Amino acid sequence: MSRVLILHTGGTIGMTKTEKGYQPDGEYFRRAIFHMDSLKASGMPEWDFMETDPLLDSSRMAVSEWNMIGQLIANHYEAYDGFVILHGTDTMAYTASALSFMLKGLRKPVILTGSQIPLCETRSDGRDNLITSMIIAGEGKVKEVCIYFGGLLLRGNRATKYSADGMQAFLSPNWPALAEAGISIRYHRSAFRKPSDEPFACRPFANVPIGVLKVFPGIQFELFANVLSLKLKGIVLEAFGSGNLPDDKNVLLPMLKEAGANGAVVVVCSQCPQATVNMNAYEAGLVLRQAGALSGCDMTSEAAVTKLYYLFSTCRNAEEVKMYMERDLRGELREEMI
Ligand code: ASP
Repeated sequence: MSRVLILHTGGTIGMTKTEKGYQPDGEYFRRAIFHMDSLKASGMPEWDFMETDPLLDSSRMAVSEWNMIGQLIANHYEAYDGFVILHGTDTMAYTASALSFMLKGLRKPVILTGSQIPLCETRSDGRDNLITSMIIAGEGKVKEVCIYFGGLLLRGNRATKYSADGMQAFLSPNWPALAEAGISIRYHRSAFRKPSDEPFACRPFANVPIGVLKVFPGIQFELFANVLSLKLKGIVLEAFGSGNLPDDKNVLLPMLKEAGANGAVVVVCSQCPQATVNMNAYEAGLVLRQAGALSGCDMTSEAAVTKLYYLFSTCRNAEEVKMYMERDLRGELREEMI
């Protein structure tokens, strides 16, 4: 029988109502899951339960929490066949992307899930999300970091939170679902990533200064000069469509060049969830290429941000970061589209 470690980190699934709104309630959640009959039913994996201290609303998660979760998985990697991480939905796609880079050579399922309605409420979606995640983690067919939510199993670094109130809260606009859970769980093996044969290792992140700038019509680039060119190591520019910018009035280009000279790496992603960046398609994108910006290809912004953290934490210099940024490291982009 397979063994799964459940790690509760917080989020709506384990919250109860207080005077100040919903808050994580570890005691309630522990009692609830130890009394959940379906988790003891035949066919379910054996499981152990752990929780982080403090339990967090995921909007408060940062690099140190990602490192803690990664380290916990690494410390228990040999003892379990799979891992289920209970997490708030707000930043679940960031944590899933971060873990996908942090856990090198992963050959076991790490499934993040949570819920839109707390488990303590009658219509909670947490029960199915948890139970199906446990089955997927126990079966061990996917060997990557995934999000299971609302019937879909998605690659973690391809997923993005799409709905704040629908039960299908996540989508993976540029990569097919790895499985769909209906009456049975239908795996789409052609979408799986072949596990690498590197040895398993957890590579924690440093707290690198990273920024995301979403452009908009009328943006005054000069207002961002100080931050962009002097303070940041990694910059994700969320451009229009396939990587186009408003007229830069010859302001952005010198700024990006200066940022590059200071060792920063600029990656262009699209504001369209379903897109592949091609900075050569329009004149409006060319300025970015000329400034040395890299293509984020079909990566989500979540993947681009966490990949920058990962690469700046593990590479020797900015040149190495640039080299790996446009490569497919964990199934987060389609290299052939660059
Ligand atoms: N604010 C909550 C969180 O991300 C929302 C959720 O879990 O759905 O922790």
